[in-house]
Amino acid sequence: MFNALVVEKDEDGETSAAVKQITLDDLPEADVTVAVEYSTLNYKDGLCIGPGGGLVRHYPHVPGIDFAGTVESSDDARYKPGDKVVLTGWRVGEAHWGGYAQKARVRADWLVPLPDGLDTRQAMAVGTAGLTAMLAVMALEDHGLKPGHGPVLVTGAAGGVGSVATAILAQLGHEVAAVTGRPETEDYLKSLGASRIVAREDLGEVTRKPLEAEQWAGCVDAVAGAMLGRVLKQMKYGSSVAAIGLAGGAIIEGALITPFILRGVNLLGIDSVMQPYENRQRAWQRIAADLPLDRLEAMTVAAKLEDLPRLGAEILEGRIKGRVVVDVNA
Ligand code: NDP
Repeated sequence: MFNALVVEKDEDGETSAAVKQITLDDLPEADVTVAVEYSTLNYKDGLCIGPGGGLVRHYPHVPGIDFAGTVESSDDARYKPGDKVVLTGWRVGEAHWGGYAQKARVRADWLVPLPDGLDTRQAMAVGTAGLTAMLAVMALEDHGLKPGHGPVLVTGAAGGVGSVATAILAQLGHEVAAVTGRPETEDYLKSLGASRIVAREDLGEVTRKPLEAEQWAGCVDAVAGAMLGRVLKQMKYGSSVAAIGLAGGAIIEGALITPFILRGVNLLGIDSVMQPYENRQRAWQRIAADLPLDRLEAMTVAAKLEDLPRLGAEILEGRIKGRVVVDVNA
């Protein structure tokens, strides 16, 4: 028997989440069984701990969209017992039981070996949010962004993806402008390497202007909504926005075609879920090389399985700062 956070749905459609004892026989069929050490809390986990938001396929359900741990048994030649592994994406924790348990059973194709230079806790301090931040930075680089081109904007900066994006960009030598709705996070964001803080309300208003003064050499956007509509009009000629999330709304409000036609702005959609093995491995290697581990510690909060129902509600309200690392054995 081992512990898992199990979400159940009653006859009235109400969901509830609680730590329960389950067995290996309860886990879904797949080829690799992992003794999970750490998982994390992401925005999607908040949705899956609660009513599901259309993400959860079947109840009862074990959420947790990412985890790191040690292979316990494997029917796939690529992995043997004792190997340290990381999993992000592939709808694990949504369509398939995830990392909020002391054991998980998944397909070998979904795993990557733990990158050199990171332990399992550090890998989960990065987690899906950090992998996505790295993929966003790599996409901006692929479209020409280099240090010295000008300030790079990060929206939703005090959140999970925003915190890691801020730290990576600063470490690479970019001037980072961090947008936050929480002025009390200014010292935290500066400790991650942000050069300046932009108040959320300064970018949150929808305007009818076709363009505004060119300001940003690149942008990692976790928010969308009215903010992205506004930011697009402030991008420098030929620059790119890596759009990763929609914490501020699923519509790009107030957006016009003008930034794309008159300034050649690129809008790059980034999805960490179905990344092929090579991309995930390249991104993890870049994380191990480019993310200062002392800054990673500063952005991490520790949690246990039993804390997750409360923390899941908080992340949906935008109240979590940085990354929550879940020690499933605590
Ligand atoms: P967090 O909740 O940790 O961070 C989101 C941040 O957005 C908040 O901390 C807050 O930052 C800001 N924010 C929240 N609500 C609003 C609002 N109404 N208007 C403006 N800003 C707001 O979430 P994550 O960083 O984990 O994820 C962010 C988004 O990215 C989510 O939509 C998530 O689903 C998505 N995502 C996508 C991935 C992909 O593969 N594309 C992978 C991981 C996440 P502040 O307090 O600083 O203003």
